[in-house]
Amino acid sequence: MPLPTRRPSVPVRIGHVTVGGPAPIVVQSMTNTDTADVAATVAQVRDLALAGSELVRVTVNEKEAAAAVPRIREALDRAGVDVPLVGDFHFNGHRLLKDEPACAAALAKLRINPGNVGRGSKRDPQFAEMIEIACRHEKPVRIGVNWGSLDQDLLTRLMDENSRRAAPWDAMDVVREATVVSALESAARAEQLGMPHERIVLSAKVSGVQDLIAIYTSLAARCDYPLHLGLTEAGMGSKGIVASSAAIGVLLQQGIGDTIRVSLTPEPGGDRTREVLVAQELLQTMGLRAFTPMVIACPGCGRTTSTYFQELAQRIQSHLRTRMPEWRRAHVGVEEMTVAVMGCVVNGPGESKHANLGISLPGTGERPVAPVYEDGEKTVTLKGERIAEEFQELVEAYVARHYARRETAP
Ligand code: SF4
Repeated sequence: MPLPTRRPSVPVRIGHVTVGGPAPIVVQSMTNTDTADVAATVAQVRDLALAGSELVRVTVNEKEAAAAVPRIREALDRAGVDVPLVGDFHFNGHRLLKDEPACAAALAKLRINPGNVGRGSKRDPQFAEMIEIACRHEKPVRIGVNWGSLDQDLLTRLMDENSRRAAPWDAMDVVREATVVSALESAARAEQLGMPHERIVLSAKVSGVQDLIAIYTSLAARCDYPLHLGLTEAGMGSKGIVASSAAIGVLLQQGIGDTIRVSLTPEPGGDRTREVLVAQELLQTMGLRAFTPMVIACPGCGRTTSTYFQELAQRIQSHLRTRMPEWRRAHVGVEEMTVAVMGCVVNGPGESKHANLGISLPGTGERPVAPVYEDGEKTVTLKGERIAEEFQELVEAYVARHYARRETAP
């Protein structure tokens, strides 16, 4: 099946990263540290960047946080972490940016929530102030609507208009429309204030899968700004992963989406970088980008009474992840490799033949041998106590043989 054709969008430069146009779909994430805590925030940004986050957003909610941003940037630069930082502003962004000009200078993009820039007569001047500061510093913006903080004046206006329709829409449809209109009208207003068209990214996040799909489908048809996809308040654990994957996956399949974030609520003490890995896996399993060699492992069944093959699959998976930073530097294209670890003879040889490298372990009652396949051909049969170690050595040898060394690559 051919890959979906991306909806055309105007590319936006965010530091050294491009979002939109022909650029690959960008993975981004957000810290959950107190931004005023420079050391903790630098450590988490570095972890997220090392995990593969190509943009990292930090909350800028108070004077101390705004003052910390340039110090965070400097510390990251000193550590050789060049990931662009995005500032997330609500309520008081206009004031923080005015009082701490070095904050705007250190950020690569400003996220502005039009529902939270101020109410009534304060909204327009405060929005204008933020846009003018972004223009002065030549920074792009993301107009990031969230229906948890939807512009209530706009919603009231659209509800009133709806009540005058001959056949009024369902109230939920009006809320969806208000979410889209808030993004589009705010972008138009930003352009009137001098923000170049090619410096605007849009998002319109909601927490329901069907709502997100409907809103982005509408937004995508009505503008050519790059779109940032994400299901807000996706939740914890498997629920958050499934909901985000369902919503974002459907949109990506329609060619909609230029950058994604999988918003996961970490378990207490959990690792923030998980959301980056999930976003990468979503893009990679859809064939849209490749980040790290993929392990294809069968789920196991009554034919695998031991946990041996699960342990091997896990061992190979962590070996690939551990080796990837060095392989990425040294070998061209290694992230596209697939490795199959299968539990028995039923699907083992077939699935192993489809992978670059595959091993079919013996199921219950089978001869204790494990045939290995390279690019569809059986090359060796492993047996004995060292199957795991020997297979790992074969993976290393395969990488060295098949992926050109970077310095010699064209
Ligand atoms: S490959 Fe074998 S062990 Fe794995 S799920 Fe299929 S039948 Fe079960």
